[in-house]
Amino acid sequence: MFSGAPPVHLMWSNMFDPKKQKIEKPINWSRITNLFRPYAKEIVFVLICVLFISVLGLLPPLLSMWLIDKAIPSGNFTMVMQLVAAMIATALVGALVGVAQGYFNATIGEGIMRDLRVNLMAHMHRMPLEFFTNTKTGEIMNRVSNDVDSIDGLVSGTLVSMVTNFITIATTLVTILWLDWRLALVSILVIPFMVFPMWPVGRKMYEIRRTTRQKRDEIHAIEQETLSVSGIMLLKSFVRETYERDRFHNLSTDLMKTEINLAMVGRWFMAAIAAMVTIGPSIIWLAGGWLCIKEGVTVGTVVSFVALLTRLYTPAAALAGVQAQIVSALAVFERIFDYLDMHEESTKTNGLALEKVNGDIKFENVSFSYTDRADALKNVTISIEAGQVAALVGPSGAGKTTMTMLVPRFYEPQDGTITLDGRDITSIGLSELRKHIGIVTQETYLFHDTIKNNLRYAKPDATDEQIEAATRAANIHDFIAALPNGYESIVGERGHKLSGGERQRLAIARVLLKNPRVLIFDEATSSLDSENETLIQAALVPLMKGRTSLVIAHRLSTIQSADKIFVVEGGEVVESGDHTTLLAKNGLYSRLYKQQFREGA
Ligand code: ADP
Repeated sequence: MFSGAPPVHLMWSNMFDPKKQKIEKPINWSRITNLFRPYAKEIVFVLICVLFISVLGLLPPLLSMWLIDKAIPSGNFTMVMQLVAAMIATALVGALVGVAQGYFNATIGEGIMRDLRVNLMAHMHRMPLEFFTNTKTGEIMNRVSNDVDSIDGLVSGTLVSMVTNFITIATTLVTILWLDWRLALVSILVIPFMVFPMWPVGRKMYEIRRTTRQKRDEIHAIEQETLSVSGIMLLKSFVRETYERDRFHNLSTDLMKTEINLAMVGRWFMAAIAAMVTIGPSIIWLAGGWLCIKEGVTVGTVVSFVALLTRLYTPAAALAGVQAQIVSALAVFERIFDYLDMHEESTKTNGLALEKVNGDIKFENVSFSYTDRADALKNVTISIEAGQVAALVGPSGAGKTTMTMLVPRFYEPQDGTITLDGRDITSIGLSELRKHIGIVTQETYLFHDTIKNNLRYAKPDATDEQIEAATRAANIHDFIAALPNGYESIVGERGHKLSGGERQRLAIARVLLKNPRVLIFDEATSSLDSENETLIQAALVPLMKGRTSLVIAHRLSTIQSADKIFVVEGGEVVESGDHTTLLAKNGLYSRLYKQQFREGA
């Protein structure tokens, strides 16, 4: 089906690789055809419909020939009526079959889009965290939604019209050869002049379309960044409206220019082809007229020939255009496949299943660095026993968050091992491991949904009683109950309708519902009002009870009550012990303590 297209080598850029490594990669046709495989039945139906409609379409010109050459000259009005009735019947049946074909077309197009969308989304969900910190959200959204959408036009529009046009041309060719081979030859000679000039145009279109997609990515990224609550706050507070407008204007202008280019490329050829569609029949009238006069060919034959020519030239012109569209649409497939080819997180499905987790956590000589950066962690060895609360303290950028990210394997250390109950965490299935870990970060993420649904995210089958027990323990029940819509209140985009303290208490309730054995808690650095502070401190008691907790601690009360304190500096654990021992050491901890807490304590 695609063999007519020229070999196009695509530049493949691996977006995930920060160095944007470029590799020449030929088009993977079998990968594209594989997408059609599940719809084989529908494809057969479409082909049958197309064939039927094409053959049916041949009838009206032939019926006119019989009208002109037989029925009218012989004065047989019954025959005239029969032929006209047949003309009407072909039109009606053709329309009916057309509806059926439309249904199968849509099933194939929409089906392939659904499959791609679901695959892509599932794949994205399995991508490592690193990918999302390295790629603009708007760009990801553009690929997952707009690129997939544009596949529909290609599948149910372009490909089907290509097949239809091929079949129409083939059936018409057979008919005209049967009618008169001399006229047929004249008609066929015109076709190459229509098809070949379009081939280089396809290549050009493909390149321009690639550029438009990149521009769209950039535009989506700006939209995504500036139209979020945090983005718009930043924009407004720095009074950057004019700058953002100009930036957006420039990008939109670039996009406009490339789109105009795309619309104009090959327009001259298109115009020439359109002219050929009209000029072709006049040449046939010339040759036909001569054959009528000299060779006794009937007028009906020439009339029906000219009518049939539309069925030859229009599809040929369309095919020339379709070829260009297909080549350029490959740019979209290429972008989708690029994303599908990126490495997923190492999901070990055959990893160990965890029946009962105690919660002993050990880091043994763990070193880790983010891509081409200095080591974020160097040779970290720590041990936390089941049920203990371990506080990580240290200056900002020391590596505390990084340490906690390694436990649920959001990142993988380059060296050393981390164990849970003595088992290397890399031997445990990812989902299995994460099932037992609860995380409360400083920046609580909530979906734009009701409070109840946000809580149920942790445990979809939670009963109302369980939810209330969790929110009571997290000291947020009274607040929720006092809202006009209670648990059905919408939290607003990312929970912006709630205060920071309320969001964090909701997050605590959510983790309580999950009930994990291991807890990672990033205490808010920003000073909370004393009421929220007290409420959160009280909520921490049920949160940490019976779990191993790894807390990035900023509050004296948390630190003092911790079983172990690890002081982190420059990616290393420089001191460890409990509060009193560490103070006595007179090292970094005691300095930090004096700086931060003594005055307030
Ligand atoms: P802390 O939590 O102690 O403030 P982090 O663990 O967040 O420190 O950061 C440790 C170091 O790693 C810092 O130098 C920080 O700039 C760097 N870092 C953190 N996250 C990333 C990331 N996603 N990519 C690259 N570097 C990062």
